[in-house]
Amino acid sequence: MESAKKRIGPLIRILRRTYPRSHTALDFRTPLQMLVATILSAQCTDERVNRLTPPLFAKYKTAADFASADPRELEAAIRPAGFFRNKARSVIGAGRRIVSDFNGRVPDTMEELLILPGVARKTANIVLSSAYGKAEGIAVDVHVARLAGRLGLSREKVPVKVERDLLKIVPRPAWLDFNYMLVNHGRAVCRARRPRCGECPLSRLCPSAGKFEVKPKAAQ
Ligand code: SF4
Repeated sequence: MESAKKRIGPLIRILRRTYPRSHTALDFRTPLQMLVATILSAQCTDERVNRLTPPLFAKYKTAADFASADPRELEAAIRPAGFFRNKARSVIGAGRRIVSDFNGRVPDTMEELLILPGVARKTANIVLSSAYGKAEGIAVDVHVARLAGRLGLSREKVPVKVERDLLKIVPRPAWLDFNYMLVNHGRAVCRARRPRCGECPLSRLCPSAGKFEVKPKAAQ
């Protein structure tokens, strides 16, 4: 981990230069919309969520609207996002809790966000950084977990433990966009299958560089 501390500054500088516009790809105007869109984005692409949220947010404008939503109607509206029954339950439950405990306003601390149904650290981190500009942690999704391992920033597999490792070495101001930079890099270059190490701007600093190259088969 000592070497990770030395590499993290240059890694972030290169990521920031390569992906200067690293922020959430989810469309939102308010913290409530950010929260709902993030819940819907689990196991679903941001593009698909962005296609279904405009009519959704036109119909449900406040936490009270979501709290009193008819489950069947909400399920139908969010069906394309997948896992629609669970997601509808989370959104309605979160709406109710926001109304009952937070006066209708999405809370802006990690501790309070974690009280809401369907909200774990990843969702809370995204809401805090994107809707409130607050750095309380780093959202660890599949891209961040994979890249943290390949880049030698964490040996852990469980997201909460990966996050704990990252928080020790990533400077706090970078917590806000670290997730988005790694997501961009994970999609563009360091893909799950066949990472493109040969064209990766981080290769000089990456202990996994070249490890994934497919070796040509020896002649029979
Ligand atoms: S060098 Fe390869 S493994 Fe390392 S970050 Fe780049 S693409 Fe990923």
